[in-house]
Amino acid sequence: MALSVLPHKDELGIKDGQSFVDGEWVEGTSGESWTHVHPATNEECGQFGVASAADVDRAVTAARRAFDEGDWPRWKAKDRIKLLRRVSELLADHADELSRTQTFDNGLPISFGSIYQVSADFAADAFDHHAGWVDKIAGETLPTYTGSDFQILTLKEPVGVVAAVIPWNAPVMLFAQKVAPALAAGCTVVLKPSEYATFSVIRMAQILEEAGVPKGVFNLVLGPGSTTGEALITHPGVDKITFTGSRLVGKRIMEAAADRIARVSLELGGKSPNIIFEDVDVASAAATAMGMVSFGLSGQGCVCHTRALVQESIYDDLVNGAVAMAAATTFGDPFDPAVTSGPLINQRQLDKVVGYIEKGSAEGGRLVCGGDRPGGDLAAGNFVNPTLFADVDNSMTIAQEEIFGPVLAAIPFRDEEDAVRLANQTNYGLGASVHTNDIRRAIRVAKAVRAGSFGVNGYTVMPNAPFGGFKESGLGREGGRQSIEGFLETKTVTIALTDSPI
Ligand code: NAP
Ligand code: MG
Repeated sequence: MALSVLPHKDELGIKDGQSFVDGEWVEGTSGESWTHVHPATNEECGQFGVASAADVDRAVTAARRAFDEGDWPRWKAKDRIKLLRRVSELLADHADELSRTQTFDNGLPISFGSIYQVSADFAADAFDHHAGWVDKIAGETLPTYTGSDFQILTLKEPVGVVAAVIPWNAPVMLFAQKVAPALAAGCTVVLKPSEYATFSVIRMAQILEEAGVPKGVFNLVLGPGSTTGEALITHPGVDKITFTGSRLVGKRIMEAAADRIARVSLELGGKSPNIIFEDVDVASAAATAMGMVSFGLSGQGCVCHTRALVQESIYDDLVNGAVAMAAATTFGDPFDPAVTSGPLINQRQLDKVVGYIEKGSAEGGRLVCGGDRPGGDLAAGNFVNPTLFADVDNSMTIAQEEIFGPVLAAIPFRDEEDAVRLANQTNYGLGASVHTNDIRRAIRVAKAVRAGSFGVNGYTVMPNAPFGGFKESGLGREGGRQSIEGFLETKTVTIALTDSPI
């Protein structure tokens, strides 16, 4: 029997999708609709109306009004904290439903939907964490250079109307990473999710509405990046764009923002290195290395460590261990708890990954396992078997470009210096890891590698810890104090203390 995810649509009560503008659920006025195609089956399983430029304008105007004329930016800290905590509670109450809806969106195996970093529990904690910042947003008092003629202080004020654009691979977590700090800072928001993961985002918007977020403070516009997204990022009423997605679209966002000097933060892609030294348990390091790119969303994660840099003495053993891990991959109905690995998001991504695999072989990589697609029931979905290339040179395309699929490149290194050089030989700088039992070496390597987040014998992301990229992996940080700062402007106030100040 062929796979089908459609029964889950009724079970989850998923209806066709609408935008949420100025406190109302509305049909897009573009007259166009988008059909959701599930990546595990390529079944058509839901529709939503596409928001036109006029709809985006109404959403930005509502957010503008709520910011400029509404009382939201001036809400009492006590009330804002209470509201964000209410959102947090509701997200936690609906964690299971949200994780299933996310699986209905993007095919993330349900066994991974409950993993903290991509779950509604993370989203709930992000709202709770940022609620805690509301009464701690603080300026400074500063001395003057000229004596006691002035008192100088700084005020922290919300940046204004925020356009948030998120991708499809972790919609629940990324919604919270952007919306929680923006609302905590007193900003208003217009969010555009990816057209490939809409239903879980609609559910989160309903939760914000249920929690009592005032009209116009949070708006949702549905539609493709090329139309709805463009209308949003080029809208003159937007003060700040916060974006998570590919480097290419990130560049376009910066360009659009430059036109009116809008504020920008960017969370982009990566080609993260995983440096494995000879003193570790090789079987476990191999399982981690391969699992990171083949379990869950099959390598479709920004921080998936897709380059395994392996010390020469353990290289063959590690490659063999990685092959064994690849063999443990299970595909199937993503709602089945025994399934470990999901499909690629769409046909275009599938073609792109297959193209990279062909290129890997053509450029001289040694294909050790995978490279093909599972057949039978799975042939209709966008699955690719976990793929390992050995003897990869770091200058090859598969070692330099983000593939966003289940493809691991194993690259041998001689010593620590060689490992660090290879790790840094990339335009990206999002994540990195080292596996070693030598603490001094771990710290030296952590300091030498240019990446925004670094794992020592393990890697994680938390709502209170800054996350973001060096180099072309992005601009700004999400999570923790730096995240709130990204939604604030600093105003300097000088107060004359004498009758004849300069
Ligand atoms: P993408 O193609 O860049 O799309 C991201 C978002 O931007 C989607 O909502 C997309 O809409 C929208 N978009 C596309 N073109 C636009 C335009 N001209 N104007 C405004 N919006 C536009 O990325 P993706 O393929 O969805 O996601 C994968 C990428 O995200 C990878 O590079 C990955 O590394 C990165 N990522 C980074 C992080 C991080 O935190 N650093 C986390 C997750 C993912 P549509 O999809 O509806 O067209
Ligand atoms: Mg895209």
